[in-house]
Formats: sequence, structure tokens, C-alpha cells
Amino acid sequence: MATKTPSPTKSSKAAAAWAERERLVSNGSAAYTHLVLDRALNSKAWDVDGKEYVDFAGGIGALNVGHCHPKVVAALREQAGKLLHTSFHVAAYESYLEVCRRLIGVTPGPGAKKAILFNSGSEAIENAVKFARAYTKRKGVIAFDNCFHGRTLLCLALDGKHKPLRQGFGPAPAEIYHSRFPHAYRPPLGVKPEQLTEHCLEALERFFLIENSPEDTAAIIVEPVQGEGGFVPPTPGFLKGLRKICDKHGIVLIIDEVQSGFGRTGELFAIEHDGVAPDLMVVGKSLCAGMPLSGVVGRAEILDAAATGAIGGTYGGNPMSCAAALAVFEIFKEEKLVEAGRRVGEKVRKRFDALRDKHDFVGDSRGVGAMRALELVTDKKSKTPLPAARVKEILQSCADRGLIIIKAGPQDNVLRTLMPLTIPDADLSRGLDVLEEVLEGFKP
Ligand code: PMP
Repeated sequence: MATKTPSPTKSSKAAAAWAERERLVSNGSAAYTHLVLDRALNSKAWDVDGKEYVDFAGGIGALNVGHCHPKVVAALREQAGKLLHTSFHVAAYESYLEVCRRLIGVTPGPGAKKAILFNSGSEAIENAVKFARAYTKRKGVIAFDNCFHGRTLLCLALDGKHKPLRQGFGPAPAEIYHSRFPHAYRPPLGVKPEQLTEHCLEALERFFLIENSPEDTAAIIVEPVQGEGGFVPPTPGFLKGLRKICDKHGIVLIIDEVQSGFGRTGELFAIEHDGVAPDLMVVGKSLCAGMPLSGVVGRAEILDAAATGAIGGTYGGNPMSCAAALAVFEIFKEEKLVEAGRRVGEKVRKRFDALRDKHDFVGDSRGVGAMRALELVTDKKSKTPLPAARVKEILQSCADRGLIIIKAGPQDNVLRTLMPLTIPDADLSRGLDVLEEVLEGFKP
């Protein structure tokens, strides 16, 4: 969510391409790095000047199976010669049905379930809200501080960050509210860590009295580990507490697994760590190895609540994306990528914890599985976020030394890891070594 692009690389081809990017492409498009890539394979990428990188960004968490996995590429090649597009509204095809079958099979929650496919995470989130409103015949939707659900108009109203996501794009869609998310590193003044879950659940009780009654609330939407908000896991019991509140009041619980899903946290879905069953789950990103595909899966009665024709679009679940997604399911099984998420995460955790212990400007090391982050501060005592411009220097130094890594957090001061779960040990160590060297040489 950078507002201005970092300085282009010194190399000529990339610099020239970057200048063209600035000339041709809307300034509104975020620029996390200045890189201009030519090709990539698994956890490595090469820029247009032939420079090699280890990729800890994974296309913002869309590449848990790695870049250009041979099975994904083969599935796409085969599909391209067979059927590119029908629009699912015009004619069905087996691969769409099989993706739904698989999603229904792997997502937690009892009872009859259905699924539907879209193109982007944002599109799926919008539709999950539509399903919840149609089912409950209520309008209110509660999201959380620092959450991120996308950049379309309804999604940005959900986002728990005003600038630059919402600012200037009003009027916002109505009846969207925010409540407090339990952020263990940044609790409200005077709230002890062991009180944080209760504090945040109580905030909802206050909300229901003052802002919007439960019987007017259609949905609570939450990321089981906040992504763009800075890789913040909720405190223990918070998600269970939300489940209870939703059950009590007939509110639809929407779990957004777009970034945390598909093995990233060491379970197929992050919500499994908490043993909570969503009413609706939203999936995207690593479902499809870099192809555009997202979905909503959940209780059949909720997914059937919208009128026929009210949900969908020309391309949602197109045959190419479905072919890639089916390859992803196979790769997860064959290469045991959920376990890989735990293994990669544990390696990163150890190195990140050591960096936190060593540097006063590394305030927090946190995360779940391979969804890990370092929060950078001016010093541990004040916890003042390290200014975004200084964080950019760190990211730039990493890129100069051959590591692609991106930031997160409401103040852009969190480094996050979204490397492929297929990353070989040598690449993982090399990337971590680069980050360690850069932080070692950094003067806050
Ligand atoms: N939800 C979450 C949790 C996300 O991280 C994102 C994207 N970063 C989205 C929704 C939106 O997905 P998309 O960019 O595919 O619209």
C-alpha cells in the first residue's frame, strides 16, 4: 500500500521499464518494490537484467506452491487447448464442479455446504456479504480495526484502515461498522494481555447496545490472522467468542482466508487452529497458484439465499483457473505442503525471534506457521513505529542483495513472509541471511 514508488534499480533495462510503468500505469496502483521481473521458478525469480532473487513475497501470498509449478503449467497447457471459456452461467464444466467438491470437502464446518467461484478475493468478499444480507434479511456488517478485505467499494468500506484505502472514495456503502481486534503487541492502554480477548468481545456487546442491534446485524467478518494489518493473530479464545456471539444472535460468521489459507499457517486454513466452524469462508490467492480464482464456501442454506442471477459474473471460475486449482490440490497432497508450512514457519520463527532479541528496533516477532512478521519500531520501550521511509530503505537493501520481501501493517512498519511453502532450505536460508545482514547494518 505504498503511496509513492521506491527509487528504481540502477540497471538499465529495469530502470527503463520502471520509467514506462510510471508513465503508463495509474499512480493508484501500489508499488511494494521497484522490480521488473522476467521469469520465476519455485522460490526464485529473475529480473529483466538477469539478476536472481529469492522470493519471500510469493505474489502477496498467492504462490504457496511456488512460481510456475510444473504440474500447474502442464494443467494450464492442456486446458488451453481444450476449453478456455464458456462463462459458467452459459454452460457448466466438470473442473468447476470438482473445485467446489474439493472446497466443500476441505473446509471446516458441519452440515450441507455449497460453493461458488469468483475471480478475486475482493469479489468473493463482496458476494459473501451479499449472501449474508440475503440470508438474514439484515444489513449491518461488523469488521475489525486494521483488517483488510480488498479494494472494491464495498471491501474498502470494510477495511480497517482509512488512509489511503478509504480516503477520498466516499460516500462509503452504508451499515458497515468496525470493532476492536485483539492485538497483543498493541493493546489498548491499561488492558492486560490476559484481559484482551474479553475486552474485545465486550466491545461488541457495547456496540450492539449503542451502534447497531444484533437483530439488525447480518455478518461479522474477520481474518483468522490479520494479513495486511500486520500479520496479527487474534488472542486465544477471540474467534471462539465471535462464534458464540454469532450463534446467540443468528449472525453469519464470515472467515476471510484469502491470505491465511492454503497451508500458510501450518493448517490448510488458519481457522482450524481455533477449532471454529465458519458459516461462510472466503478463499482466494494460493487456491490457484497465481491464476485469478476465489470462492465462497459454506452453509448451503446461506449460499442458496440469493435470487438466481443475483450472483456471478462472466469469468468467475473460468476453466483455466479451475485446471490450475485442481493441480494445486494435488500438489498439496503429494508434497505435504501443510506440514511444509509448519516446517518453514518454525525455521523463520527461530531466526526472527533471534533478530527481535538482538535489535532494539525489532519490537515484535509474531505470526502463525509460515505467516510470520517482524514489527519494526524506533525502540522497544516506546514501540513507536519505525517511519515508513526507513522501512522502505530496508526493503530496498534486501532487494539490492537479492531478496524480495514486502511490508504490512497500518503504519507500514511490519516485514512479512509469504514465501512459497515449497521453498528449498538453501533459498530459505539465503533469504533469511540477507535480511539478517540488512538489519545488522541498519541504524535506526
Ligand atoms: N482478503 C484478504 C485477507 C486479503 O489479504 C486480500 C488481498 N491482500 C483480499 C481479501 C483481497 O483480495 P484481492 O486482492 O484478490 O481482491
